[in-house]
Amino acid sequence: MRYVSLSLLVLLPTLGAAQSLEQRWLALQNTSASYEPPPEYAGWWQAVVAECDCIPAVELPTIAWQRVDATTFECVVGLRCRGYYIPSLAQAFVVSADTLRESTVKHEMRHAILGGDPEHQHPSWRLDVALMRVAARPR
Ligand SMILES: [Zn+2]
Repeated sequence: MRYVSLSLLVLLPTLGAAQSLEQRWLALQNTSASYEPPPEYAGWWQAVVAECDCIPAVELPTIAWQRVDATTFECVVGLRCRGYYIPSLAQAFVVSADTLRESTVKHEMRHAILGGDPEHQHPSWRLDVALMRVAARPR
């Protein structure tokens, strides 16, 4: 089962009509605001790069951070997330409550460093606390 198919957490069936990717992305844009990465992010980034043992696909200053004003949001059809990273835009969306939550932010950073990896295939995902939390949930 692809229960770890994309960014984070809450797996809830979504009611209502399915939206296109573009509609969901536009909705995300409209319910989020850009923010400056807090000082903690530099250390978190270095830690994830070290765990990855790879050359980052992007550098931290190039990532646009977006705070989503919701507890979760639809990142793909039928999947609610607390964070989401769009590699083609180097844009990271994080729910407001989690902008200083290390596990959520590091998860999106790992996607950025790996250039996406939406299926969480890279070996370093085994060190990802947020993903471990999802995997541990009873299905
Ligand atoms: Zn993910």
